[in-house]
Amino acid sequence: MASRIAFVTGGSGGIGSAICKRLTDMGHRVATNYRDESRARAWQAKMREAGAEVALVHGDVGDTAAAEAMIRDVERQLGPIDILVNNAGITRDSTFHKMSAEQWHEVINTNLNSCFNVTRPVIDGMRSRKWGRIVQISSINGQKGQYGQANYAASKAGMHGFTISLAQENARFGITVNTVSPGYIATEMVMAVPAEVRAKIEQQIPTGRLGTPEEIAYAVAFFIPDEAAWITGANLSANGGHYMGW
Ligand code: NDP
Repeated sequence: MASRIAFVTGGSGGIGSAICKRLTDMGHRVATNYRDESRARAWQAKMREAGAEVALVHGDVGDTAAAEAMIRDVERQLGPIDILVNNAGITRDSTFHKMSAEQWHEVINTNLNSCFNVTRPVIDGMRSRKWGRIVQISSINGQKGQYGQANYAASKAGMHGFTISLAQENARFGITVNTVSPGYIATEMVMAVPAEVRAKIEQQIPTGRLGTPEEIAYAVAFFIPDEAAWITGANLSANGGHYMGW
């Protein structure tokens, strides 16, 4: 397929890095955002060594004005965005009866409000060019809920409502909007969990192991080609069979 311009939020994270690599391997030109410049430059150099050239723009996805500025910067550096992956996300876990307003708002703002902040400045261009791919990275915990994660599960379930509404509004403009819902992935965060806790998680996964960031990148890549034009409003679970409902 033609080389397109892609913006992946949170590209420097465990899953984001694999998505950036996969999209560059597919021949696309990729940008991501950063907040800490020296960490971002070190990450960019590592990606370059691995054969992936990724452009950097500064900004916080939870800030509406900063997100618009980020998008304009990508357009200046690479050109109009054809592929958007809303991947940046955080957790601030606590059982609900102990959860602070700050923990609630921070997670909803970074994970869900960011979808508005980043997609809104991109959508008009995709509509006028009659081609676009938007993929949200949600979570298994947005499908099944999770003890201690009312904020996170609400933000991730909200992404599904966002996806299926946007899919309806933009289908006639050659834009598909889909969600990938990863299960437990062997990122630094999950690998930092004590081995015995990880072993318990793995026992609950029918495949008997955690997923890899590359397996999530593969699921994202599935939605991108022209051949995927009829797949919109879908939620693709990539979780080793851990949860098989919607
Ligand atoms: P990481 O913590 O490794 O990476 C998160 C990325 O998001 C980082 O690049 C981080 O940048 C960026 N980010 C966080 N907050 C903001 C913000 N306010 N503005 C801009 N960028 C921000 O996470 P993962 O790679 O593990 O997760 C990626 C996505 O996948 C998330 O949405 C997560 O919820 C989801 N997911 C992950 C699973 C897992 O097992 N790992 C399972 C299911 C879903 P910085 O370095 O500046 O903080």
